[in-house]
Amino acid sequence: MIRLCQRPGASCGACCGLYNSRDHGREAVRAELTRRTLVLRRTAPTLGAFSEAAARLAEGGPAPLFPSVRVCPLLGFLDEAETRVGCLAHPLVTGGPDLRDAGVYDVTICESFLCPSHAWLDEEEAELTELATGDFHLYGLVVTDVPFLRAALGAVAALTGARVERRHLARPAFREALTRLLALKEELEPGSEGLFGAFRPGRDGEPVPRQIDYQVIDRDRSPYDALLTCVGADPHSGNDLDLLENEVRRRLDACAETLTPLPVQR
Ligand code: SF4
Ligand code: SF4
Repeated sequence: MIRLCQRPGASCGACCGLYNSRDHGREAVRAELTRRTLVLRRTAPTLGAFSEAAARLAEGGPAPLFPSVRVCPLLGFLDEAETRVGCLAHPLVTGGPDLRDAGVYDVTICESFLCPSHAWLDEEEAELTELATGDFHLYGLVVTDVPFLRAALGAVAALTGARVERRHLARPAFREALTRLLALKEELEPGSEGLFGAFRPGRDGEPVPRQIDYQVIDRDRSPYDALLTCVGADPHSGNDLDLLENEVRRRLDACAETLTPLPVQR
C-alpha cells in the first residue's frame, strides 16, 4: 500500500483540517501549527490533559473557512525545525499513550482513514510530488489533488515531449521550476474551486470533472485548459482566468527551459 501522509521528505495534515481557515497561506498555517505545538509540548501526555488543551486551542484558533469540515487542534509540528506536520497525539509522538481520542475524531477513525489519493496515485507520482514540494504546506495541497498533479505533469510532458521522471528532479533548476508550477495551489483565492476540488468525488468514487465556462466570458478554450480547470480559473471562482493563464504559461515555459533532454537510462 502506498503511504502518503508521512514520507521521508514531506508530510501532510490536510484531512486534520490543516488548510481549513480563511488565510491558508504558509505563514498563517505555520503560526497556528507553532501555537498548538508549543502548548502541547508542555501538556502532560494524558487523555484528560490533552482534551482540555485541545478545547482551549480550538477556542483560540482561526475560524474555519468551511464550518462543516473539522479542524483538529492536535495537529502540529513534529520537529523543532518546523518542517514536518503531524499528529501530536499519536503514540509515536507522545512516547506511549494514544491520545487521539482527544481530537476532533477518535482513534479508530484517525487510524483507519486514508484519503482518496491513496487509491489514485502510484508510487512514482507520490515520489515526484514529495521531491517537488517537500514541506509541510505545499505537499499536502498537491498530494490531495490528483487531477491537478496529473494536469501539471501532463502539461510539462506535452510541452517538452518528455514524461517527467524522478531523475529529472535531480536537476535543481528543473526541480525549482516544477515547484513553482505546483505552487499555483498556494496562490489561489480563499474558498476557490481549485483549493478543495480534490474532495469532490462522484458516485463511482472518481473525481467529478471540473470545467471552465468559456462561453460566459466569451473566450476560446485555453491551451492550458486542463491545468486552469484544476485551479478553478472559471468565472464563478474568485480567481482571474487571464492572470492564471499567464502564470501557467510562464511557469510551464520555465519547466521546459530547464528540462533539456537527458540521456535515457538503461
Ligand atoms: S489528506 Fe490524505 S495524505 Fe494527507 S494526511 Fe490525510 S490521509 Fe494522509
Ligand atoms: S487526533 Fe486525528 S484528526 Fe487530530 S491531528 Fe491526530 S490524526 Fe489528525
